[in-house]
Amino acid sequence: MSENAASAEAEWVNWSGSLRFTPRSLAKPRSEAALGHLVRRAAAEGRKLRAVAAGHSSSPPVETDDMQGVLAVDKPKRQADIAAGTSLKAAGEQLHREGLAFHNLGDVDVQTVVGAIATGTHGSGRHLRNLATMLAGGRMMSASGEIIEIEEAALPAARCSLGALGIFSVVRVQLLDAYRLERYEYCARIEDCLAHLDELFEENRNFDFYWYPRSDEAKLRMLNPPGQGSRALAFAHCVSREEGWSHELIARRRQLKFEEMEYALPAEAGVACFRAIHERMKTHHRRDVAWRVLYRHVAADDAFLSPAHGRETVTISLHHNAGLPYAAFFDDIEPVFRAHDGRPHWGKKHSLGAAQLRELYPRWDDFLAWRKRFDPAGLFMSPALQHLLEDGAQ
Ligand SMILES: Cc1cc2nc3c(=O)[nH]c(=O)nc-3n(C[C@H](O)[C@H](O)[C@H](O)COP(=O)(O)OP(=O)(O)OC[C@H]3O[C@@H](n4cnc5c(N)ncnc54)[C@H](O)[C@@H]3O)c2cc1C
Repeated sequence: MSENAASAEAEWVNWSGSLRFTPRSLAKPRSEAALGHLVRRAAAEGRKLRAVAAGHSSSPPVETDDMQGVLAVDKPKRQADIAAGTSLKAAGEQLHREGLAFHNLGDVDVQTVVGAIATGTHGSGRHLRNLATMLAGGRMMSASGEIIEIEEAALPAARCSLGALGIFSVVRVQLLDAYRLERYEYCARIEDCLAHLDELFEENRNFDFYWYPRSDEAKLRMLNPPGQGSRALAFAHCVSREEGWSHELIARRRQLKFEEMEYALPAEAGVACFRAIHERMKTHHRRDVAWRVLYRHVAADDAFLSPAHGRETVTISLHHNAGLPYAAFFDDIEPVFRAHDGRPHWGKKHSLGAAQLRELYPRWDDFLAWRKRFDPAGLFMSPALQHLLEDGAQ
């Protein structure tokens, strides 16, 4: 596509296929100048503009660009400037050649760096914060079509900002020196896993488990610097061991497509919430739902809209095959998450609107104030974002 070309009538479909729409036009700007032209034209025509990236969110707020790659590295500060269209995988490989690495990754690395930051994408580890917290600055196309540098004071709003402040052209991220990890996977009975949960999270850099409803077994996944972490678990049997660099080992490949609902809970409510879901799935969904449930831990942070804002967090996610009806299952379990003070993942299925979400975030109004400062006329407020952030919450 030529620079700034916009195609009419192209359908946009997300990764799992549950979201599809035909925007009036779909554009892939290849430079900041082209992106500026797009933004100014949309503003002049009184239209709305939404950024989408790799389409791995299954919630409606989802244009990104062909600007790719790691643009600059500040080795002493362990920071890098990354173009908005770059995937975590591509960035991870380039950063490795510079001796740097992301502090963590989620389950996959095919999302863009900016998309992961925008929704608070996380991996698992009691002392590891989500990927939004990597954001240390960057450049954003504002609603006026000007490129602005993200100032330090705006970072708590800009991290996890759902594309509501403007369109990032470049993100500056805080990194670690490149590091190696050893990955062990074990299988155990779910009750044995729960009985040892606290020590498993404490002893391992990255730890999470999948519960398989039909067998009532759990797969325990742990990643540590080589030679460290839990070893020879008496209650579990080891099914695999690998060693490699962090960017090769943390994320996995997913072949099967699924729909997902995930909530972030106060850490102390995690086990009780899991037990309530375990019970409900075994009594009500045994026949229809075979997909595993994923239990992870995320450290607290201060981003205004981070699902881990201000509290140590456990996340629990439900999955169901893409293409099969998932709504009845998710709708049935969502109240359990809500009863445990859960906050929904911004990129996954949930039913909440602004009035309910505002109750869950103590700095909600601070985020809205920054949003209005960045985009007073609401150029980036699509109907879906309006529903999530403003309708009925004033
Ligand atoms: C197979 C799979 C595995 C996953 N694993 C995990 C996991 O382990 N942990 C987890 O937390 N989540 C996980 N997710 C969710 C996923 O990480 C998020 O939905 C993520 O936001 C998707 O990124 P994307 O690049 O596809 O962006 P999109 O989904 O296209 O967009 C995400 C958000 O970013 C905004 N955005 C896009 N580009 C820009 C830009 N240039 N400037 C400003 N805003 C922008 C969009 O408006 C939107 O709000 C998974 C999803 C899938 C499908």
